[in-house]
Amino acid sequence: MERLDSLFQRLEQYYPDMVRLRRELHMYPELSFQEVNTPKKIAEFHKQLGLEVRTAVGGRGVVATLRGGKPGPTVALRADFDALPIQDEKEVEYKSRIPGVMHACGHDIHTATLIGVARVLSEVKDQLQGNIVFIHQFAEEVFPGGAKPMIEDGCLDGVDFIYGYHVWSDIPFGEIGLAEGYMMAAVDDFILTIKGKGGHGATPHVTIDPIVVGSQVVVNLQQVVSRQVDPLKPAVLTVGSFVSGNAFNVIPGTAQLKGTTRSFDEDVRESLGNSMQQIILATCIASGAIADIKFMKGYPAVHNHAEETKRIEKLAVPILGAHKVKQMTPIMAGEDFSYYLQKVPGTFFFVGGGNPELDAVYPHHHAKFDVDERAMLIGGKVFLSVVADHLL
Ligand code: MN
Repeated sequence: MERLDSLFQRLEQYYPDMVRLRRELHMYPELSFQEVNTPKKIAEFHKQLGLEVRTAVGGRGVVATLRGGKPGPTVALRADFDALPIQDEKEVEYKSRIPGVMHACGHDIHTATLIGVARVLSEVKDQLQGNIVFIHQFAEEVFPGGAKPMIEDGCLDGVDFIYGYHVWSDIPFGEIGLAEGYMMAAVDDFILTIKGKGGHGATPHVTIDPIVVGSQVVVNLQQVVSRQVDPLKPAVLTVGSFVSGNAFNVIPGTAQLKGTTRSFDEDVRESLGNSMQQIILATCIASGAIADIKFMKGYPAVHNHAEETKRIEKLAVPILGAHKVKQMTPIMAGEDFSYYLQKVPGTFFFVGGGNPELDAVYPHHHAKFDVDERAMLIGGKVFLSVVADHLL
């Protein structure tokens, strides 16, 4: 039987190729829902390895299946591959060659890891008792995301377990972050248009001032989380944009507010919307303004299965040492990995990529974001371990 050590050795042997691929992806990033060359390149790699490859899954996704020599369960591993509308400001030779587009979240790292892992496992496929499905997902960064349409297009058919990782610059290289249960938040957005009645700035009494009404709405919305949500259940309500008027002496006719809510529990998620609606409508009515609210439901919360999280913990300890495998505090950012976990047992974990010596100190979505590429070895070894745990 193939020993884990030898799988790790193979991965280390291919690490320079993984770095090369990661840097190539980094130089030529593609925005969500506009990915063309990235999925093409991914599909070619898997075809060369002799895997069954499906392209255009759910839109732009790639799914490659490796069938083991013996029957057994099917394990899915997922990596996303879209980039962000950010100008790369790093001074490195692999900096983005595409103006205004950048892999500022590490999805290039995820992709290169998965291909390295596929290469190793394709060499030992005869010994595998079961199958592996490599899910390369498009459009994680932008609603409605790629996960949902890929699932609807069958990427989880026959899958028994799913795992995914996110490289994380906020966690030092050499550590892994795990969380049982809720790990990342449900993300919902809203746009509120307040219709008042415009007029001269000197005669406010004959207008309905949407700036004053909007200001009251912003203040009143602060009660939603502080007064209406169970204090033991996390929630965030942020108004991130308030646009109205453009002159000293004109009361504008409308104001537009945009914002986001974050939560874990579905009942809190539901109640945030209801409370907001009540407060916004009441505030507007009190001033004679009209409110037009548009809620845009985003991804549900990432809820990791306890047993699979424990499995990853157990497998990560021999790789990193017990003191480097940490329980992490859940974060209020979102991820559409949640959709997979609603269908199949699994877990999503964070692999540390922070390293001040490499200037990998900036947060995700920052113009100077970078990570220690050796995170690919750690993420890859955890993937190999979990596959071996199920299939060897
Ligand atoms: Mn991401």
